[in-house]
Amino acid sequence: MNPTKRQVQNESTKGDPVITELPAACANERLAVEFMEQQRWVDKPYCPRCGDFSVYQMKDSKTGERQTNFRWRCQGCKEQFTVRIGTVFEDSRAPLRHWCFVFWRAATSKKGVSALEIHRQTGLSYKTSLFMLHRVRHAMDEKDIEPLNGIVEVDEAFIGGKPRRFHGSRKTNKANKKSKTTVLGLLERNGRIRPKVIADVTGKTLKAAIAENVKAGSRIMTDDWSGYRGLKHKGWKHESVKHSMYEYVRGDVHTNSIEGFFGILKRGLNGIYHSVSKKHLHRYLAEFQYRYNMRDLTDGQRIVKAIKAAQGKRLTYAQQVGA
Ligand SMILES: [Zn+2]
Repeated sequence: MNPTKRQVQNESTKGDPVITELPAACANERLAVEFMEQQRWVDKPYCPRCGDFSVYQMKDSKTGERQTNFRWRCQGCKEQFTVRIGTVFEDSRAPLRHWCFVFWRAATSKKGVSALEIHRQTGLSYKTSLFMLHRVRHAMDEKDIEPLNGIVEVDEAFIGGKPRRFHGSRKTNKANKKSKTTVLGLLERNGRIRPKVIADVTGKTLKAAIAENVKAGSRIMTDDWSGYRGLKHKGWKHESVKHSMYEYVRGDVHTNSIEGFFGILKRGLNGIYHSVSKKHLHRYLAEFQYRYNMRDLTDGQRIVKAIKAAQGKRLTYAQQVGA
């Protein structure tokens, strides 16, 4: 990183209360619990079971201090609870200070964060680190169903194995096709990205995915892959650049933004993630999608948003391992 870049980053995070508090919260369990409580409930803690606001912190009878298991009691339903209840970290035994660290890294590192890094920094096992990361990715998985519109760039990328893509040979290399997963990227120019795992790059599959994600009447921009032919007859405006003829930009017609996103995704996956299985690829996509779509937020805002999204998103073990 060059000095100018570092300077800019420091300035954009300067004075951000979340970024200021996080290092301490990642090192001290009590501060971590208070940090999570603050993000989740702001100044109005409530019972996650019945929603009652008449709750109080349980104190140690000898010391009068807050209990070391950080429990609360609800006067409504008489149940005890902690800030973990109803979140992606509810049934985890990992300390919350490590959860703070995982949220921090996943929400802010441009190229993504690996389980190996979490393992090294926290001392937790690699398996636990990977588990935690998958849960944070699950929290980041936005269920945004509003169709993309305006100018929408569409392109495909092949993830996994050795990257190879030659024009006109998308179907030819059988071995490659087998080891790779195809991702369709749909990107609203200056707006949202939506990466989707798709089965193949046939016209039928591509059009079905576009129909599911792009509002009719939008201007769709692609390269000249034959699978995109016929979009005009299905209710979209379609323009393409002829990559096969070395044409990359024509007026405002190009696919540079989606290619830029794929560049970030591939660098992240190649450089940091040692192996991304097909089964888990959608989780990594959710992480990259989250950071891209929240790019105008500060680091602190992005972290808080992810923590808030962790509520009501419990993930069972079976769901997580894809059983
Ligand atoms: Zn209650």
